[in-house]
Amino acid sequence: MVINMKEKACRVCHRIFSEKSQCPDCKTYTLSEDFTGIVWIFSLEENQIAKQLNVSKPGKYALKVR
Ligand SMILES: [Zn+2]
Repeated sequence: MVINMKEKACRVCHRIFSEKSQCPDCKTYTLSEDFTGIVWIFSLEENQIAKQLNVSKPGKYALKVR
């Protein structure tokens, strides 16, 4: 049996999650399965990637979402 944990990324906030059709953060439905560069953001302080992506809370994010 194959467990299909298809991950999706939100086009708005770049958050990555699985098995959902709505972004848990910004509540939009603008999701994409086509994304590159997975980053874990643990702290928002002094974090250039977090600033670049405009991240509001720690989590798993995609650098680029198509
Ligand atoms: Zn989002």
